[in-house]
Amino acid sequence: MVPVDPCGRPARPLGAAVTRSFADRHIGPDRSELDTMLPVVGVGSLDELAAAALPATILDGSGLAALPPAATEHEVLAELAGLAHANTVATSMIGLGYYDTLTPPVLVRNLLENPAWYTAYTPYQPEISQGRLEALLNFQTMVSDLTGMDVANASMLDEATAAAEAMTLLRRAGRSKSARLVIDTDLFPQTKTVLYTRAEPLGIEIVEAELADGGLPDGEFFGVLVQTPGASGRVVDWTAVIAAAHERGALVAVGADLLAMTLITPPGEQGADVCFGTTQRFGVPLGFGGPHAGYLAVRQAHARQLPGRLVGVSVDADGDVAYRLALQTREQHIRREKATSNICTAQVLLAIVAAMYASYHGADGLRAIARRVHGHAAAIASGLGEAVRHDNFFDTVLVQVPGVAEAVVAKAKSRGINLRLVDADHVGVACDEATTAAHVAAVLESFGATVPSGPPEAGAVVETRTSEFLTHPAFTRYHTETAMLRYLRSLSDKDIALDRSMIPLGSCTMKLNATAEMEAITWPGFARVHPYAPVDDAPGLLKVIADLENWLSAITGYDSVSLQPNAGSQGEYAGLLAIRRYHLDRGDAHRDTCLIPSSAHGTNAASAAMAGLRVEVVKCRDNGDVDLDDLRAKIADHADRLACIMITYPSTHGVYEHEVAELCALVHEAGGQVYVDGANLNALVGLARPGKFGGDVSHLNLHKTFCIPHGGGGPGVGPVAVRAHLAPYLPGDPLERDSHAVSAAKYGSASILPITWAYIRMMGADGLRRASLSAIASANYIARRLDEHFPVLYTGENGMVAHECILDLREITKQTGVTVDDVAKRLADYGFHAPTMSFPVAGTLMVEPTESENLAELDDFIDAMIAIRKEIDQVGTGVWPAEDNPLRGAPHTAACLVGEWDHPYSRETAVYPRGLGHARAKVWPAVRRIDGAYGDRNLVCSCPPLDAYTE
Ligand SMILES: *Cc1c(COP(=O)(O)O)cnc(C)c1O
Repeated sequence: MVPVDPCGRPARPLGAAVTRSFADRHIGPDRSELDTMLPVVGVGSLDELAAAALPATILDGSGLAALPPAATEHEVLAELAGLAHANTVATSMIGLGYYDTLTPPVLVRNLLENPAWYTAYTPYQPEISQGRLEALLNFQTMVSDLTGMDVANASMLDEATAAAEAMTLLRRAGRSKSARLVIDTDLFPQTKTVLYTRAEPLGIEIVEAELADGGLPDGEFFGVLVQTPGASGRVVDWTAVIAAAHERGALVAVGADLLAMTLITPPGEQGADVCFGTTQRFGVPLGFGGPHAGYLAVRQAHARQLPGRLVGVSVDADGDVAYRLALQTREQHIRREKATSNICTAQVLLAIVAAMYASYHGADGLRAIARRVHGHAAAIASGLGEAVRHDNFFDTVLVQVPGVAEAVVAKAKSRGINLRLVDADHVGVACDEATTAAHVAAVLESFGATVPSGPPEAGAVVETRTSEFLTHPAFTRYHTETAMLRYLRSLSDKDIALDRSMIPLGSCTMKLNATAEMEAITWPGFARVHPYAPVDDAPGLLKVIADLENWLSAITGYDSVSLQPNAGSQGEYAGLLAIRRYHLDRGDAHRDTCLIPSSAHGTNAASAAMAGLRVEVVKCRDNGDVDLDDLRAKIADHADRLACIMITYPSTHGVYEHEVAELCALVHEAGGQVYVDGANLNALVGLARPGKFGGDVSHLNLHKTFCIPHGGGGPGVGPVAVRAHLAPYLPGDPLERDSHAVSAAKYGSASILPITWAYIRMMGADGLRRASLSAIASANYIARRLDEHFPVLYTGENGMVAHECILDLREITKQTGVTVDDVAKRLADYGFHAPTMSFPVAGTLMVEPTESENLAELDDFIDAMIAIRKEIDQVGTGVWPAEDNPLRGAPHTAACLVGEWDHPYSRETAVYPRGLGHARAKVWPAVRRIDGAYGDRNLVCSCPPLDAYTE
């Protein structure tokens, strides 16, 4: 018999040269480690594991044959270099909210390309996330300072979705009963498209009007959306329009360019209620559309209405200043379909780049950049004279060239410059930080004009801003490279990211983000292409996109894929919209009900509400599975109104439900569609395909299964995949009004797609399948080893879990008073990031190891959990009081080693729970346990003054 390895492949003969593939480096457990793990799980091979864990009815490894064979890191980097090279990196002067920018190299290498920053997760464990929380607080302070508003959140997905969130915020926060929204015609076209997409299912009627000259239209409306500078580049003071809108009972949101705000009166000082926009031009590369951080800022009165994440200031157990997510942390999980928005993953990494760009340049530096940009625009305007349409502009001029706009754009193109073709008679020219005098001259030549001698005519834009901004030390201390370098290092040292420990967050799939996958994203061929550049500028990017669409279709078994959604939540929204429009087109307008199991991720319900669907909850059985009897009853109750069911597979309970095919059939028979939330695809790749076992549509999270790093809470990519009958309803080009686009850029966060491309290319079919099985093996290994200490809540038919397991602490808490919080915080003392807490079941921890952790790391985590269980027993038996023990006191800082100590456990137990000299590198949490409620009562969401730290 030929000896076979755990995957059933012929084992290498002894002594053969060992060539390790990328998959061998991506996957933690090697053959010999699997030999230790699989017997614990009770199977002999990975194939046996697949047969034992997954229902036979869905097992299907056929899709992967369509993938190219695995390549090595260096082969893939060479291929990507070729694709990057195929793109034309033109000088982008198209504008429309996307501007070239000069990212300071200190930020490229030490932030954007630094795993200590990009491999972190959303800071739900604030004690080990103080670095990125401080950076996000700087972001919020920067945005509120520049816009003149009181409170800003910690990023939106892009400007257009930020505008859409502003729209719904105005409706929630205002008192008007009207369903009409007035928008100015000079909003960016992509912003308008996304507003139209979002407004329709919510029954919001949009009225477009020229507000700057014409004033507000007749009739009632709940809100007004304007922008400055406008798409035409025109700068408008909206004070009078805002006052008139307020008088008529409406609230006003203003889109504002942050660089312009350094020179002109910000919307907050003009009376705006809400401000929205993008921070892209603060050091974040164009990236063919993303990712970049959008922003949303409001007056204090509306702070509790802000969607997404909000970082706030609070105190820790020692009374020291500490940061954490405020108010609506995981709001969707609590409020579900009543949540303010479905935003979960945001754009943290890019928000931090923008904030650091502001810290590095400071107020004076930003003002100087703004003046230079404006000076170039003014030079172009004075060279073109009468042809320029507006007197008041910042960086963009709209030029009237009757009948020859195309010719002008073509001439500029031949000089390596992309201008904006507005229509046959108009050209837009946008200047940015990268614009030079040579560009100005080339632009003027393209118009047949010459550079004017002498300085440009003064007064194109009056510097109307009188208020100070960015005066906090966060923006005055780090103007030298040495200071910035050390600031970045000191912040990231406070956090646990994947570069320090495994992050076993269930449902989040914190796997390796390989360096070879990350390399390409900052290459100019991918990073410096404008999203609205001519298509022939981007053949390499379009190849990456087309390959990915094909590969993801093959992996999921669907027919079409759109890469446009900027996060999982946006993929859900796009997928549900597709279902809704499908029913509408078939004359089934009454199908408006979305069934969602009680175990679902909160974004599901929030997305359904945004898509205009009514949510009906389907019960789960005691074993965690969807209750098919309840499902039958719900289908009968809502028969005519059934639009769809939205399930997660494998379920958020971490098991493969064996009745999934039957469940899908029940819904289909009743005329409904099946949405399969694909966030858990890491348990399916190469093993089963949702498009083949009953799904009509799924979203995937490339930032979970497909190696895009979480960036501390974003970026993400949430492609939506559909069967052929739904393909006509996928989101289209945001520059086309009726395209139902959900993001500002056609391909969403295009510049990070090479990460997923490289992952699939390097893994190949066999590697991907082995990754899924290794992830399942690791989860089952942990479940088996920890079960006697912390009971595993749900298992499938053979006692197997999928790629994650839920540890039930409820009984332990009842008996000892020790909570999941205590265990999560204590894990930091042991050097680990906590698992997911209290989702999807309160009082539990959900552990997902992924395939990337080797046996040593898995065992170390298990040992830490067992040691913690012993500590819990000491509380249970009264050795330590319930109110004063190492768990309740966790986490412990270095400061615990000095000063007074009056606890019943030793300092050694506090900070070196497993004894001195343990091989694991010591993590020192920056703060003690944080008092979240205090911060919510005393909401502070911008940088506190320095004396707050010394009180
Ligand atoms: C992560 C997750 C989502 C949301 O994805 P985001 O990218 O954070 O918006 C939805 N459903 C499930 C099951 C998830 O785990």
